Amino acid sequence: MKKAAFRLALGSALAFSSLPLFATDTIVNCGATIDVVAGKLTGPRSFTVNSGRIQRVDNVASKAANVIDLSTYTCLPGLIDMHVHLTSQSNPRSYIESFTLNPADYAFRAAHYADITLQAGFTSVRNLGDDGTVTRALRGAIAQGIATGPRIFTAGKSLATTGGHADPTNGHRFDLMGDPHAKSGVVNGVSEARKAVRQRYKEGADLIKITATGGVLSTAKSGQNPQFMDDELTAIISTAKDYGFKVAAHAHGGEGMKRAIKAGVNSIEHGTLMDDEVRRLMKRHGTYLVPTILAGEFVAEKAKIDGYFPEIVRPKAAAIGPQLKANFAKAYEAGVKIAFGTDSGVSAHGDNAREFKLMVDQGMPAMEAIRAATVNAADLLGETENLGTLEPGHFADLVAVKGNPLDDISILETIDFVMKNGEIVKKSR
Ligand SMILES: [Zn+2]
Repeated sequence: MKKAAFRLALGSALAFSSLPLFATDTIVNCGATIDVVAGKLTGPRSFTVNSGRIQRVDNVASKAANVIDLSTYTCLPGLIDMHVHLTSQSNPRSYIESFTLNPADYAFRAAHYADITLQAGFTSVRNLGDDGTVTRALRGAIAQGIATGPRIFTAGKSLATTGGHADPTNGHRFDLMGDPHAKSGVVNGVSEARKAVRQRYKEGADLIKITATGGVLSTAKSGQNPQFMDDELTAIISTAKDYGFKVAAHAHGGEGMKRAIKAGVNSIEHGTLMDDEVRRLMKRHGTYLVPTILAGEFVAEKAKIDGYFPEIVRPKAAAIGPQLKANFAKAYEAGVKIAFGTDSGVSAHGDNAREFKLMVDQGMPAMEAIRAATVNAADLLGETENLGTLEPGHFADLVAVKGNPLDDISILETIDFVMKNGEIVKKSR
């Protein structure tokens, strides 16, 4: 109380002083830094951090006592994964678990996976689909400091049509299928589409996720058919805009992508079977692609194992998985905007950075891959004022590695130092 009153009395008089007022500055000396705005590796940088944010950046190493010495490391902004599912991780029992696990079971898993994700250098994630309660609660717990993990932007429960990719009762026995509606993320027609977006608002979601086409891992025949009509898409996106939501669209097939892009979604997730027209539309509308190559690699590999997936899923995993790579290369070459995303939860949490090498192997320069996971991701989140770069005023989210990831991108798979919100969460020595 005393401190607050003192701050009120003196705050305005000292507002222009560069001296720290009450909280102590933390200073981080970096030997080299990847400047994602200028697109180059710079020499020594010193970052002054206070109250969770970067206060100033100097182009020389600070001589102050008690600096965090990263003079033998390369620093870069905290990484951002735009497509994760923290509540689960694919395994041969995944399908039966939807009948045996409770939200509390998923919550403990999510807390564990969030911690692993942060240790891997991902200081922010977009969670694109859970049961609607778990990552919302985890987001709050992390913000309060009672759980460890990345800053979470959650879509809550994804929106699908009946039998669509995110219908939660796909593949169930008929008497267990029920008839889920907007609250459970299943919508048919304009009115339910609007209601589902408003329901997500009521539940405290940060954005909307829709499944614009069939998907690989759902217990359904098609992995690529369009699953929303134009009027439903328009209803979702116009309602989402009223509530300040961005809309992410899962899509593998071309027709579903075209409808979703024309209706105004902000990102296409996966984008597996896009053609020239889809790429042109994405460029015209400024739609991001979130490529998730890692998920494609993972499911194609597991499709070879008898019994890993249900038989209805197996051919989709074998066919669609490998195509994500080639599609990504074509989209990048065509000039489609790319934001980094892995669909982790399909592949193992904590392996997120393996996506970088897959991107670079397909022809993307290392700097562009890093920009996809920093500045571009912040842009797609609508958080360019807070995230994605190491500039004054931004959250002090900073990671460090040994060596130069521009020479060998796989270095990002071993993150030695993680700071989130100005607090050190990992420091390996
Ligand atoms: Zn996903």
